[in-house]
Amino acid sequence: MNELINLYGLTRSQLEKLFVAQGLQSFRGRQLMKWIYHSGISDFSEMSDLPLATRDWLSQRTELALPNVVSREESTDGTVKWAVQVHEDECVEMVLIPEKGRNTLCVSSQVGCSLDCSFCSTGKQGFNGNLSTAEIVGQLLLANQHLESKNEMITNVVFMGMGEPLLNFESVLAAANIMMDDMAFGLSKRKVTISSSGVVPAIEKLSEHTDCSLAISLHAPNDSLRDQLVPINRRYPIETLLQACRNYLKTLGPHRKLLFEYTLIDQVNDHISLAKELAHLLEGIPCKINLIPFNDFDHSGYRTPERSQVFAFQSVLIERGYTAMIRSTRGEDISAACGQLAGNVRDRTKRSERYLASRAPSSILVSENRRVSS
Ligand code: SAH
Ligand code: SF4
Repeated sequence: MNELINLYGLTRSQLEKLFVAQGLQSFRGRQLMKWIYHSGISDFSEMSDLPLATRDWLSQRTELALPNVVSREESTDGTVKWAVQVHEDECVEMVLIPEKGRNTLCVSSQVGCSLDCSFCSTGKQGFNGNLSTAEIVGQLLLANQHLESKNEMITNVVFMGMGEPLLNFESVLAAANIMMDDMAFGLSKRKVTISSSGVVPAIEKLSEHTDCSLAISLHAPNDSLRDQLVPINRRYPIETLLQACRNYLKTLGPHRKLLFEYTLIDQVNDHISLAKELAHLLEGIPCKINLIPFNDFDHSGYRTPERSQVFAFQSVLIERGYTAMIRSTRGEDISAACGQLAGNVRDRTKRSERYLASRAPSSILVSENRRVSS
């Protein structure tokens, strides 16, 4: 039997093509989107302005399937973290961050991540594939369902959960497209942000597909330091990355800015001289800088800087004319903060095993040896 087509995974033009391929008019695709996204109707038989034969065909060949929710945890600060099932027996996490006047959803785009940034818990889980467009859009639908009882909706989406969004280019761009489509969620292009650690070829072709906001995980102002923290820098060094960013920004038109993320790690990249170097590096690029104090996880080998150091780093940037914000840590009690999302990844790369082996055993071996010798 043919697999059902999950309609949550289709952009407006893909839906229109699907209808045309059935010998129907393309506007039927837009009618269907209104039912799904504006009226929240998922029963095809209730879509009263679609011909009966079309409704029959939809119910036989298509579906509106959301990912299964495996767990939901709510932090004392109101942050909500869900684990949702993907690929049969794995799960990824998504986080809702409610703030005054806005609800931000941090979505995952991959099961784990292949890039292995040295300070990121997701990277340590290894990698096992991409999410589909429907699995990404499904995260937004689930969060909106949760907010419905409060008469609220998600206002901002950031692709800052598990995975490197630009290594799952097609699905992520289609999902962003659906999020920004007036026939669907109608989020503004300023309120959908793709965060990347610097996949330059993908950034170079981004403008052919979208005009959403772009955040770059920089974390260091020079290549020797960035090579250690963000391994993809060895392939696409800082100057190449910044050139691709400038080019994308030009296509967005006036008043748009890039966001640079900089995770501050104690005694690694938080020195004041690096703040000055960063200010110099970003001169002339319309941008904001988001400083993220490192969020710790088991065996990370890193420490969070003192608050005073974070403020000192921020001051250097502000004095030089930048908008530099410190991202407040949300949902720490449920491990929902940046870089703490882990989910459940069947690691194809075996990286998680190697990582734990490289961290834990020395202490275990020492105690074993002591036991043997005593
Ligand atoms: N892969 C994408 C998006 C996901 S990570 C990217 O790297 O941009 C979202 C942000 O959290 C990134 O800026 C990432 O570098 C940062 N981050 C990862 N681990 C972190 C940690 N342990 N503490 C603080 N920030 C972290
Ligand atoms: Fe992947 Fe982003 Fe984590 Fe790096 S910081 S390992 S790119 S999820």
